[in-house]
Amino acid sequence: MRVFFGIVFLVLILILTVAAIFARHSSKSIGKTVCVLICTFLFPITGNLILVVSDNKILSETGCYIYYIGMDILMYGLIRFTFEYCDITWPSKLAKYFTYALLVIDVVQFGFNPFFRQAFETEKIMVAGAPYYRLVPYMGQTYHRVVCYGIIISLVALYLMKILRTPKIYAEKYIVIFVSFIIGILWQTIMIFSRTPIDRSMIGFGIFCILVFYFSLFYKPRRLLDRMLSGIVSEMPDAMFFYDGSYRCIWANEPGKQLTGIQGNHFEMASKGLIEKFGAVEDRDVDWNMNKALVSEDGVRYYSIEKRTVYDAKNRVSGSFISVRDNTEEQRNIRAEIYNATHDILTGLYNREYLYERVRKQIEENPNVRYRVAFLDVKGFKIVNDVFGNQFGDLAIKTIAKWLRTTFSGKCLHGRLGGDTFGFMVPANYFDKKKVENDLDNFVVKDKDKSYKLMIHIGVYEVIDPSVDVSVMFDRARMAITTIKEDVRKHLAYYDDNMRSMVLWEQQITQQALGAIEEKQIIPYLQPIVDRNGKVVGAEALVRWLHPEHGFLSPGKFVPAFEKNGLIAEVDKYMWRSACEILSRWRRSGRDTFISVNISPKDFYFMDVPATLKKYVKDYGVNPARLRVEVTETLLINDIEKSKRTLNVLKDAGFVVEMDDFGSGYSSLNMLKEIPVDVLKIDMMFLRETGNNEETHAKALTIVENIIHMSKDLKIESLTEGVETEEQYRTLSKMGCQLFQGYHFAKPIPVDEFEQKYPKEG
Ligand code: C2E
Ligand code: MG
Ligand code: MG
Repeated sequence: MRVFFGIVFLVLILILTVAAIFARHSSKSIGKTVCVLICTFLFPITGNLILVVSDNKILSETGCYIYYIGMDILMYGLIRFTFEYCDITWPSKLAKYFTYALLVIDVVQFGFNPFFRQAFETEKIMVAGAPYYRLVPYMGQTYHRVVCYGIIISLVALYLMKILRTPKIYAEKYIVIFVSFIIGILWQTIMIFSRTPIDRSMIGFGIFCILVFYFSLFYKPRRLLDRMLSGIVSEMPDAMFFYDGSYRCIWANEPGKQLTGIQGNHFEMASKGLIEKFGAVEDRDVDWNMNKALVSEDGVRYYSIEKRTVYDAKNRVSGSFISVRDNTEEQRNIRAEIYNATHDILTGLYNREYLYERVRKQIEENPNVRYRVAFLDVKGFKIVNDVFGNQFGDLAIKTIAKWLRTTFSGKCLHGRLGGDTFGFMVPANYFDKKKVENDLDNFVVKDKDKSYKLMIHIGVYEVIDPSVDVSVMFDRARMAITTIKEDVRKHLAYYDDNMRSMVLWEQQITQQALGAIEEKQIIPYLQPIVDRNGKVVGAEALVRWLHPEHGFLSPGKFVPAFEKNGLIAEVDKYMWRSACEILSRWRRSGRDTFISVNISPKDFYFMDVPATLKKYVKDYGVNPARLRVEVTETLLINDIEKSKRTLNVLKDAGFVVEMDDFGSGYSSLNMLKEIPVDVLKIDMMFLRETGNNEETHAKALTIVENIIHMSKDLKIESLTEGVETEEQYRTLSKMGCQLFQGYHFAKPIPVDEFEQKYPKEG
């Protein structure tokens, strides 16, 4: 019998050793603590083994010491494990030290036992014919039991407390340990009090230890998982319906019940409810998903519905579920985002990009409909904002948008293209020209105390060739507006054949430009500039194109087009180089006539103008003072500070800076005091425009006279261009003008003709 128990203990020790190694290498964080716990079990079990198998006093007592002191160590292991497993901490350091002190005292008093015999004694009895040394307990042993039982009872109480305090589904984790514990204690208690002669109480604790090893490292409470999952599904905001293998609804969560009106446990009603609400959700054989929009009291609500099949490990259908998600908020946000990205916030019309997209689509989808694309522009809209304020400006924009919507309803598209420009497209037969003209004739914006009549222009382009880019269509419609000019009663203009041929013309000359420069079809002409004595002191280089097909082309025929597409920079660079070449030739022949070259405001976008000019004069060895540069006022209105810096760079490099066409544009006299120019070129154009009205002519002359006087005061040289008569020449001379240019002296002529006509003097 004792041999049998001995074997049992040995097997236990073996199992526990393997378990300890396993626990040590477990990936779980509690693994190490479990390993420590198992090791602490090995002491009393070994003690118990020795006790069971020994038949002499010394060995038996040694077993007892290992057993009892081992029990103290085991208590330490149990405490450590319990605290970690239950995730609790000591209430205070005192409690911790006190508990461990009780154990240490116990160990120490066992150490005194061989001398004082205060803990136990052994007495020999005969069991089944063999000697066995039975324990005779004294005071110290009682202390040992009190301490160990005290700790065990406290730990059991801790597990009990955890079980009671933890939500039901998690408590299982503690229950398994608690029950194992109770089994171990019961076994031990029975052993102690059953008065069986041989103590084998550690078998119970050994089994307890194996159970702890299993539960703490391997056991995954299936019920816990199930409950958690069903808890999650119940709490989900989505409506969930679970179907068995034969597609019968067996369960739905609360939102599902509400959605389909299921009462109590009548889940079989689910499919009917779903079909009534969303239509075909019956397809049982495949997985599907769909989106549905339903009208409800608080507007449209959006749902995404999905059916999924659940398979078991062998890929057999074990059931399926349908989830219905109310994604109204999400959809509303997405729709709001799309709306904001495609619409103009102020007017609610499409924005430019979206209008273009829709126009393209509509044209493609209706190849048989003739459309008109229109561009609407408010003339002088800036004034509305400046004078009446932005709020009134917004009101004006909204009024136009409203007019567009009501006038061109139905199959029309409208959008806001920019600040005060709109675009729309209407089928040709929708466009009531008379009504539009009438409406626009008196287009008044009103608020409480203000009203303002807007001058609205609409350019119309008939979509003849649908393959044309939409932006080009609107561009053409916009271009048509430019033909309206100053006619206040005219609001509508059509992109017609003239404009069409203009576009074609521009395309043609643009393609030919670079070749034309190379082949010297594009060349400079020179127009003399004379002083008060009639002496030719300089010349303006003016570009001409001797076109092989179209003949002589003046700059008006191509410069504006090249200013639009940037080619002007190439033409100008070529003109400046040509001027330098002529100047260098003149320098060598001892002629000191200067040449003025034109600089387009657009040149500044495409190059560093001062650097380019400096390079050319250097390359040709020309004195920069001989090369005069003509800039226009348009340059100044964009960024006056930057222009000032540029002009100063030119002046510092030694160039003479001329302000071309002064008086024909936006020039403000005020500007003159700030702008670093050497020469004012006063255009006689506006004198000519006064026609035969003597009074205005006289006034214009007075203005010219004053400009001349003023420029003298500012130490700026004055040059009048467009001088056509001797009389003008004389009058201007009298006024103090220093230089003159015009047909009166000569028209622009080819360079060699110029050189022949005006040979070097002296
Ligand atoms: P602009 O620089 O003001 O040139 C003066 C224009 O007035 C020239 O016209 C000239 O032929 C014209 N003109 C001169 N005297 C008289 C006159 O007594 N009566 C009348 N009615 N006109 C006169 P053009 O050559 O047709 O040039 C027109 C404009 O084209 C120039 O005005 C200039 O702005 C531009 N342009 C000419 N050549 C170039 C160039 O090489 N580069 C750039 N960027 N623009 C140029
Ligand atoms: Mg000029
Ligand atoms: Mg001019």
